[in-house]
Amino acid sequence: MHALRMYINGEWRESQNKETRDIYNPATGEVIAQAAEGTIEDVKEAIQIAKSTFESGIWSQTPPAERAAYLFKIAEKMEERAKELAELETLDNGKPLREASFDVADAAACFRYYAGLITKPNGETYPVSDPVQGIVVREPVGVCGLIVPWNYPLLLSVWKLAPALAAGNSVVYKPSEVTPITPTRLFEIFEEVGLPKGVANMVMGSGVVVGNAIAESEDVDLVSFTGGTKTGKQIMKVAADSLKKLSLELGGKSPNIVFADADFETAVDYALFGIYAGAGQICAAGSRILVEEGIYEKFVSRFVERANQIKVGPGNDQEVEMGPLVSKEHLERVLSYIEIGKNEGARLVCGGKRIEKEGLQDGYFVEPTVFVDANLSMRIVQEEIFGPVVVIEKFKDEKEAIALANGTQYGLAGAVFTKDGAKALRVVKQLRAGITWINTFHNTYNEAPWGGYKQSGFGRALGTYGLETFQEIKQINVNL
Ligand code: NAD
Repeated sequence: MHALRMYINGEWRESQNKETRDIYNPATGEVIAQAAEGTIEDVKEAIQIAKSTFESGIWSQTPPAERAAYLFKIAEKMEERAKELAELETLDNGKPLREASFDVADAAACFRYYAGLITKPNGETYPVSDPVQGIVVREPVGVCGLIVPWNYPLLLSVWKLAPALAAGNSVVYKPSEVTPITPTRLFEIFEEVGLPKGVANMVMGSGVVVGNAIAESEDVDLVSFTGGTKTGKQIMKVAADSLKKLSLELGGKSPNIVFADADFETAVDYALFGIYAGAGQICAAGSRILVEEGIYEKFVSRFVERANQIKVGPGNDQEVEMGPLVSKEHLERVLSYIEIGKNEGARLVCGGKRIEKEGLQDGYFVEPTVFVDANLSMRIVQEEIFGPVVVIEKFKDEKEAIALANGTQYGLAGAVFTKDGAKALRVVKQLRAGITWINTFHNTYNEAPWGGYKQSGFGRALGTYGLETFQEIKQINVNL
C-alpha cells in the first residue's frame, strides 16, 4: 500500500487535518494507496511558498541553460524509471501497459523538448524613432496553478510542468484526486535532481477544495487547467475576480469523417483506435464516426465485427487491448449514457453493458459499445461520454459531413479519411476544431499546438505556443 503525501517547499507532508483519500485499482476495485487530502490551508501555504520562491529569483532569474539542465536530468530519471512509472500508471488509471509506456516515453521527451526550446533565441527588436530602440523580451508569468485530470495522470501533468518550469515560473500543481500515484513519483524525481525547494509544489485533494482555492487565489497569476468543460467554466468564473490568465483544455466530441473513397480497412482500423484507445477516456476521442452513405452499412458491419473482437481486461495483461474505466463513479456515468442513448431512440448494435465475467466482475469494465440511427438532437451525439461508446452517423455529401461534424458545442479534434487529397484539405479546413488528422488518428507531437475551438477551451499546450502560455511579453524602449 502506498501512502502518498504532498510536496510543499521541498518537504513531503501530510494534509494539515491529517485526512486521506483511498485510491483504487480500476481493474479490481481494490484500494491500492492512500493519498493526503489537501485543505485550503495547505493550498494557501503552497501558494505563499511558490510566490516567495518566485520573487527570490532562485529559479525565475536563473539562466535558461541552467534551468534546462535540470529538465534534462528529470527526463533522464524518468527514462531510468520508465518501467516502474508505466506499471504504476496502469495500476492507478487502468490503461494497458503498452499505452502507459508510450505516455512515459512521451513525457520524458516533453521535458527534453522544453529544455531545448528555452535556450533558443527569442524576442524581437522593433525600429522606432531615433535614438530610441525597442526590444521585446519574454519573462515568466509568476505563480502558476496547474490542475489536471485522471486520463493521462503523468503525461498531461508534464505538458504543463515542463514548459512552466522551463520558463522560470514557480508552480502549485494539483493532480486528479483519482490518480495521484505517478505524479507523486514525478515529484520524487524533482527532489532527486535537486530542483530548488519551493519551485514545484504539489497539493493533492478534491477539485472543489484544492482546485477551487488555486483558481481563487489573488497570488496565483495563471491557471492552466485540463478537464471537463463544466469545470472549466466554473474555474473561469472563480478566476475572474483576480483577472487571472487562463489556459483551458476542455472536453470534446470529435467527429471522424469517412468518405466512400477512403482505404476501407485503414479507416476502420483508425476509427476503432480513435474511440477505444484509453477505453474512450481521451479528450480527442473519435466518439462520432460520420460515414458516407455508399459504404455505411458495410462500415457499420465491419466496425462492429472488429469491436466485438477487442480483448478487454486488466491493463497489466500484455494481451489486453482495452482496460477498465478509471473509477466506479465514472463507470456509472458511462452506463447511464448508454441508457440515455437507448431511451432517446438510437439503436444499440454492439456492447452496451458492464462486463461481469469471472475475473473482471470487480473492475470497472464496459463492453466496446456502438450506437447507430442517431441524430444531432440526441444527447449521445451532443455530450461527451468519455467512455468506449461511439455513435456512427450517415451523411450523403461533403456539405452534410461538415455540417454534422461542426454540429456540437465542442471543437477539439476531427479527422477525415479519403484518398482524395484536395477533398481532405478542403474538409479539415472547414472543421471548427484545433486538432485535425487526415487518414490517421490520435497523433500527438511535442512540437505541435494542442487545444480546442468553441467550448473545448482556449490557449494551447505543446510546441512554442505551450511555452508562450507560461510567459509574459515585455517591451523595453531604450534611449541611449
Ligand atoms: P474534471 O473537470 O472533473 O477534473 C479535472 C481536474 O479539475 C481534477 O484535478 C479535479 O479535481 C479538478 N476540479 C474539479 N472541480 C474543480 C473546481 N471546481 N475548481 C478547480 N478544479 C476542479 O475532469 P476529469 O473528469 O478529471 O477529466 C475528464 C475531462 O477532462 C473530460 O471532459 C476530458 O475531455 C477532459 N480532458 C481534456 C483534455 C484536453 O486536452 N482538451 C485532455 C484530457 C482530458
